[in-house]
Amino acid sequence: MRITEIETRLIRLSAEAWFPDGIVPQNSIPYWDFPLVTVHTDEGIEGYTMGYAPLGQGKANFHSIHDVFYYDLVGKNPLDTQAIWQTIRFKNRHLYILSEAFYAELDIALWDIKGKKANMPIAELLGKMRDKVPLYMTSPPVQLQDLEAVKNQGKLCLSRKYAGWKLQLTGSPDIEIPKLQLARHVVGKGFPLMLDCSGVYSYLNALKIGRALDELEYEWFEEPIPDKDIEHLKKLTANLKTPVLAAETASLFDLPQYVNNGAVDILRGDTHLKGGITGMIKTLGFCEIHGYELEIHTAASPILDLANLQIGCTTHLSKFLEAHHPMFRFGLIGDPLDVKEDGCQHLPSGPGLGANIDWDWMDNHTIDKLKGCTY
Ligand SMILES: [Mg+2]
Repeated sequence: MRITEIETRLIRLSAEAWFPDGIVPQNSIPYWDFPLVTVHTDEGIEGYTMGYAPLGQGKANFHSIHDVFYYDLVGKNPLDTQAIWQTIRFKNRHLYILSEAFYAELDIALWDIKGKKANMPIAELLGKMRDKVPLYMTSPPVQLQDLEAVKNQGKLCLSRKYAGWKLQLTGSPDIEIPKLQLARHVVGKGFPLMLDCSGVYSYLNALKIGRALDELEYEWFEEPIPDKDIEHLKKLTANLKTPVLAAETASLFDLPQYVNNGAVDILRGDTHLKGGITGMIKTLGFCEIHGYELEIHTAASPILDLANLQIGCTTHLSKFLEAHHPMFRFGLIGDPLDVKEDGCQHLPSGPGLGANIDWDWMDNHTIDKLKGCTY
């Protein structure tokens, strides 16, 4: 089997849906451009993958696939995922400005091909553990601007039957702690609540917030301070009762530092930021051997989240999967990433990723296309 061609289209979404009032503020990115990649083979099987786009990086990603990686794939056997992964891993050593996420995306397309060739979902090919994973709802800061908004999001989470609720808050502790208290009041004792601070706090502010979480019995405190600040993560982990979850932004090759330093209670990873399906297999093996749980993070792109669902069904180390803003679930027939009545995301039955792409919708949102090597 050989890869014969790569085609990428840029899918444009208006950013309006992100903002509760439907108005994109001045100086914000007005459009989110997601590259949707098709890897063609000489057997007629196609593999799909997609990038992530909300900060304006979609176009750069769109070009990089064809500028940088074309000859690492075309002519190769797509089933040789280890060989291709290791080649690109060492190439990445010299790609300075590009993150490992670029090769992670491509690896996902190759696993889609592998699953289709075997006529099995990727999860089944890897050795499935479950058919569904409990799903929590994430509310970004833009949806939690005041106490009224917090109450509304909490009610929405309960009415949609999610298995948990994660708040993303990044303001001063004095403003955010009342929101954390209200969230607990709205959902009641025992309902899984999480906080994600995207690494914005100082150690002292994180400690202040963490003590509130201890009282309110939150499930975890995610990325309280920057992932690179191992020293302070170690102190937070020692001083808080609430499990500290970190290393979302770290490479899989950095994970030993967190484990060796006792800097986390729970590790974080997803197919985008931990090297694709191939990288997540390695990451989960590492976590299991070291006795750590790893919560799978959303990649906020529908094809990447299908990859997360596939890998999530192969492990017991992730208690949940994450549902971010509904605008990240576009272009798939049947909305397979939406929460079901039982509070879970269910493994799609189709082979590979199980992506049943709505090509009419994609055609209507395509603003540019690339094919072949751009050099
Ligand atoms: Mg996070």
